[in-house]
Amino acid sequence: MIGTIYKCEICALESSAPIRWFVIHCSDAKLAVCKWTEEQAGKPHALHFCGEAHAQVYISRWFESFCGSAVMLGGK
Ligand SMILES: [Zn+2]
Repeated sequence: MIGTIYKCEICALESSAPIRWFVIHCSDAKLAVCKWTEEQAGKPHALHFCGEAHAQVYISRWFESFCGSAVMLGGK
């Protein structure tokens, strides 16, 4: 466990002692933001972000991809 290096998905910053980082779990249907814990960060498919700003970048992209592909919801 000691020495695990985490890398921000947005800026590729690496840290072995991530403080105030965030973990995001997401799928096509759902996105969940978690406070940083070793448990959350170590889960398969967990995404790591060096701070709120970069977590938000990812969330924005997720919204965009969702909206862009949600043909059924287009228009009204
Ligand atoms: Zn970052």
